[in-house]
Amino acid sequence: MITEKDVLAALAAVKGPDGRPLPQSGALAGVSIAAGKVYLSIAADPAKPGEAEPVRRAAEEAVRRLKGVESVLATLTAERAQGAASGARPGPAAPGPRAAAATARAGIPGVRHIIAVASGKGGVGKSTTAANLALGLAAQGLKVGVLDADIYGPSMPKLFGLNEKPEILEGRIMKPLTAHGLRIMSIGFLVEEDTAMIWRGPMVMSAIQQMLREVQWGELDVLVVDMPPGTGDAQLTMAQSVQLAGAVIVSTPQDLALIDARRGVAMFRRVEVPILGVVENMSTFICPHCGERSDIFGHGGARKEAERIGVPFLGEIPLALSIRERSDAGLPVVATDPNGPHAAAYKDIARQVWATLQGAAPGRAAPRIVIE
Ligand code: ADP
Repeated sequence: MITEKDVLAALAAVKGPDGRPLPQSGALAGVSIAAGKVYLSIAADPAKPGEAEPVRRAAEEAVRRLKGVESVLATLTAERAQGAASGARPGPAAPGPRAAAATARAGIPGVRHIIAVASGKGGVGKSTTAANLALGLAAQGLKVGVLDADIYGPSMPKLFGLNEKPEILEGRIMKPLTAHGLRIMSIGFLVEEDTAMIWRGPMVMSAIQQMLREVQWGELDVLVVDMPPGTGDAQLTMAQSVQLAGAVIVSTPQDLALIDARRGVAMFRRVEVPILGVVENMSTFICPHCGERSDIFGHGGARKEAERIGVPFLGEIPLALSIRERSDAGLPVVATDPNGPHAAAYKDIARQVWATLQGAAPGRAAPRIVIE
């Protein structure tokens, strides 16, 4: 069994950007090992984009030579090591999320629009909405991908009933899995669920960067990114690390969820990502037996909140047993009951999102790619 100690010993033979052994140089931002697969993240100085690439390659080669290593992926990150890997000394102060944005925000070749689906907190149905929104976009004849960036709780493997490992193509590019015509990538395809849980900030960012940029997305009209829930630094960094055409905020109707949703809107505004709109999920409950409507979590709160803060309201998705059952069985409702009322609600939201994206100038000016 390969251990972190073995990896750090191998990396001691690699010189970091400052000439010291990589684990001591402060540039090693993280090491993660999952069943013979080693993930490294190396901090790159945004001011010297070319400097870190040879270090990255040398680190990969050194670790690949270790017995018991099946594959190695080293990625560059704008985040500095903060004593992340044991043995690694803290590097210079982390550049704030804004600094990271200035260096890393870039599009993905071949992908026309990248949109985020976000929520102020977990459990509001963000992933279910992201999956069905992607299917609703595909139902309009668009080429659509889904990137599960909810690194601490990846849902796409379950939502789409996928559990194979992605094929590694030439170099280290991964081929996305496919379901219902969508190209899908999730950290859940790569590591065991509990492995991702212990990742530290820089590791999370480099895993997301890798899934954005080291996946053969091909030509896509829209890449839907299922964001990690919440509005902390990880989300902010993520929101800035790629050129997002807009964000859809999912909320339930209760006041508390709306307060969190408001934080989500504020976060995207802060990084100048347009808000495509708010979706009220788990809105009215329609009893499958008697047809009676009950507003379990209240109703209409998200619409009022959207009006109040001046962002579009995209629609309501009811709290429906069939949505839950189909999501949990890997058979999302838009794909498996495409003519039903729930699919209609998601497709309507997808139409509005696409209309907004088409209206938006494609490819807002992107700073040069420095990361990678
Ligand atoms: P999040 O991504 O916000 O954590 P999920 O999409 O994983 O939320 O949804 C949490 C749970 O709620 C899942 O079991 C899902 O099937 C269920 N769910 C989501 N939206 C609905 C809905 N509109 N009606 C019924 N159940 C829903």
